[in-house]
Amino acid sequence: MKKEELLRGLPSVDRLLGLPELASLIGLHGRSRVADAAKRLVGEARTQILSSDNGGDAPTPDDRQWAASIGELIECESRPRLRKVVNCSGVVIHTNIGRSALSAAAGRAAMKAATSNVNLEYDLEEGGRGDRDRILENIITGLTGAEAATVVNNNAAAVLLTLNALSEGKETIVSRGELIEIGGSFRLPEIMAKSGCLLREVGTTNRTHLADYENAFSEKTALILQAHTSNYRIVGFTAQPGLQALAELAARKGVPLAVDLGSGTLAGLGQFGLPHEPTVQETLKNGADVVTISGDKLLGGPQAGIIAGRRELVDRINKNHLKRALRVDKMTVAALEATLLDYLDSEKTPQRVPTLRHLARKPEDMRPVAEKAAEIIRKTFGDAAEVTVIEDVSRAGSGSLPEVGIPTLSVAVRHKTMGPNRLADWFRSLDTPVIGRVEDNVFRLDMRCVEDAGEIMPDKTD
Ligand SMILES: *Cc1c(COP(=O)(O)O)cnc(C)c1O
Repeated sequence: MKKEELLRGLPSVDRLLGLPELASLIGLHGRSRVADAAKRLVGEARTQILSSDNGGDAPTPDDRQWAASIGELIECESRPRLRKVVNCSGVVIHTNIGRSALSAAAGRAAMKAATSNVNLEYDLEEGGRGDRDRILENIITGLTGAEAATVVNNNAAAVLLTLNALSEGKETIVSRGELIEIGGSFRLPEIMAKSGCLLREVGTTNRTHLADYENAFSEKTALILQAHTSNYRIVGFTAQPGLQALAELAARKGVPLAVDLGSGTLAGLGQFGLPHEPTVQETLKNGADVVTISGDKLLGGPQAGIIAGRRELVDRINKNHLKRALRVDKMTVAALEATLLDYLDSEKTPQRVPTLRHLARKPEDMRPVAEKAAEIIRKTFGDAAEVTVIEDVSRAGSGSLPEVGIPTLSVAVRHKTMGPNRLADWFRSLDTPVIGRVEDNVFRLDMRCVEDAGEIMPDKTD
């Protein structure tokens, strides 16, 4: 067909808006939105005709097809980009899929704060301005034994603020073995530079001695920083002074000792049969003056950075002007408070906080869910796939328990025509995407974080 003829065949937007097929769409999304979608689709069709040699050979759509395309475009654009996914990745605290899922209580608290007004910084007794830091301070100090505490946007912010408040224009001593990079471009040397303090590296990659710290002191020294090497281990011929020795040195020299625990937990992981991760309580007890941790790693709460330590230091941190730029919103305050309330009864904590509940699961606990999930997947693929429950290994993730494998159960799927990576794509394309992983050339779904096999029902929408 000639280009002119094809162009003439394109409908006007007004005519499309009058189609009976579009009446309900207009009712739902409004006339201007539907008109905009129609305009774009007709415009695209026009461009396509003009840019092809002979006007293209695709048949001209009829009215029904135009209406369907407009409906699809609007539906696609109305769907939130942020979607629920099912974590079968084998990594419990996975930064790319939003780290910790909140407890039921924390979710409710966040929802309530989000949809109403709250006494965020309003003193209900005095009827005037209050302080948002006071809301969380008592519960944090009660749980950790710290004199004072404050909360910011995330742990990177906590470290940045602590360094700026305590060491701007001065030197902070750090062991060369602890100059960490965490995923997502948290690099300690860069954070230190941005905080305005000077990095004084001491020791070597594998060995740093107390004397290295001591020899680095000058009148410019303001802080010692110990960073938890959370996503790697240095093994072999290694040395690092203990926290207590470092704390004694800091006290003798009259500078504070800050510890960036990263994934620091409030619960002893030993109770779940997992290796020990330093807790905030013991880090403070061993002499740290200020400790920083993430809210959404092992703690199992919302994204936040908790700073806990000596009153005088936390006061300096709170008075720092960066604090205002890094503060948390009411939903975070609500979710974090509810999460911390879950820690008051230490016996119930592992049941209530999903991150801990998932880490604590034993393979035999997951067996029924794994068998049911396998059944669902078998039904979906029929004879085309072999679906088995296998023994596998999960990881805590986000710099918690680095290099520690936790025994788990996975559902392994081997398909006649789809290779493991195609299977991974297929599960990701479900209405509620399921995130698995390929290892040893086998696609697998780790069941550690799945409590209801129905969650991976392929035709279930969220
Ligand atoms: C994760 C981590 C950070 C960064 O914390 P975010 O909450 O991701 O900002 C900083 N330091 C250490 C040691 C960490 O493990």
